[in-house]
Amino acid sequence: MGDGSVPRSQGFHFRMNTNVHATTLKLRGQRLISKLKHAGISRYCPVCRSAVSGFNPHGNPRREDAICPVCLCRDRHRLAWLYLLRETRLFKASLAFLHVAPELEMARRWSAMPTLRYLSIDLFHPAMMKMDLGRLEIPDQSIDMLYCSHVLNMLPDDRPAMREAFRVLSPGGLALFQVPMNSCATPVELNASSTHQQRMVSLGDPDMYRRYAPDVLVQRLTAVGFSVERVAYFHRCPPDERTRMGLIDEDLYVCRRIS
Ligand SMILES: [Zn+2]
Repeated sequence: MGDGSVPRSQGFHFRMNTNVHATTLKLRGQRLISKLKHAGISRYCPVCRSAVSGFNPHGNPRREDAICPVCLCRDRHRLAWLYLLRETRLFKASLAFLHVAPELEMARRWSAMPTLRYLSIDLFHPAMMKMDLGRLEIPDQSIDMLYCSHVLNMLPDDRPAMREAFRVLSPGGLALFQVPMNSCATPVELNASSTHQQRMVSLGDPDMYRRYAPDVLVQRLTAVGFSVERVAYFHRCPPDERTRMGLIDEDLYVCRRIS
């Protein structure tokens, strides 16, 4: 499904800071070395546009074909990239785009696109601005598209972040969220007072506060105003492409601000 209604917001411009420039230059050197080392034809990463001999395994439980050896993007990032490339106007229109907790190679490519007014934010890792998703220092309705992968699950309270994402989106705007799901219909959620050890035991990650259930995530996003579409984009991709590009079977939560 396309998002032909995505408008162009006005008057909001961003500049990349020097720390991000330095990180990007370092990454570029690493990419060249990795590209030579892993050259091949059996796999292709659409994010860094590299043909490689294979992707590296990752995760618990372990997933084969997860991490690109050149740009370090994961299987979920490649799936989201294809969706944004093929099904939205992100790569075609002049838009204000907010990238939350930026993945470096995606940030490198998006920040180089002259059509995008691109802003990346993070509290703890390299980004253009240090900013909390739950307290965005961004004007109302000034962002046309937003990408946020595996962040909501890391927040002690995810609702302020959802409210803020809705607030800054312009009418007709689109936010793409990815989160880890629990294997059954009930979410696993620990509160803000839980310890690292409790979260490690319950969730397998001391920095994570929840694994969602699909209905719960949709309810929360809908409650702040979004029109939510759960997109099983993996299944829209041809089987040979799923293998060659190392895609993950993880739903995308496409959230639109209608008005
Ligand atoms: Zn790559």
